[in-house]
Amino acid sequence: MRLIGLVANDPEKWKQDVRCPVRWKELSSVHQVFEVLRSQTVDVLALELKWFEDTAWMAAILEQSWTTPVGIVLLVEYEQRQWLPVARKDFSAELCLPEAFGCVRIDIEHHTVWHQGRELSLPWRAAELLAVLGQRPGIPVTLNAVNQVSAEIGWPTWTESTTKVAVHQIRRTLGESHVETIRRHGYLFAPCQL
Ligand SMILES: [Zn+2]
Repeated sequence: MRLIGLVANDPEKWKQDVRCPVRWKELSSVHQVFEVLRSQTVDVLALELKWFEDTAWMAAILEQSWTTPVGIVLLVEYEQRQWLPVARKDFSAELCLPEAFGCVRIDIEHHTVWHQGRELSLPWRAAELLAVLGQRPGIPVTLNAVNQVSAEIGWPTWTESTTKVAVHQIRRTLGESHVETIRRHGYLFAPCQL
């Protein structure tokens, strides 16, 4: 089981995001952070940016981490919580983190969807379509492409009419502007920020 070193103002809030069984080691000082890096006693170090009063410490920690196998994840929160892996080490699958698509987060394993941090009651079939369209925000996706991705994930395929129903549900739940119909081409996911 992975051991995660956690540095955060409100550790419990961040722990909720990790759906895999892991062990936690809460750290409360910069000294402790350097200590676990030096001894390599954690697998992943999750650092909330807001916790650091002096960003110079963050720079020193990152620098030290290059020479260790310890993965660094930055915890940031703007409209929603995000775990940003540093140096392209991506732990999202390993830690079973929800996938983020702009303003939307989807936990595929637990069938949960959030919009700007608020949990939605969206029929799961519609959430599957949202997850597929969400992979290419701002780009029109054809029905063929939707079916290709769905097949890769192992989800049932779509027809014109089942897609229409799901798009209607997404619009009703998330707001009209989130899915645009591109005539004779398909659908486009447009998150709030775009
Ligand atoms: Zn939105």
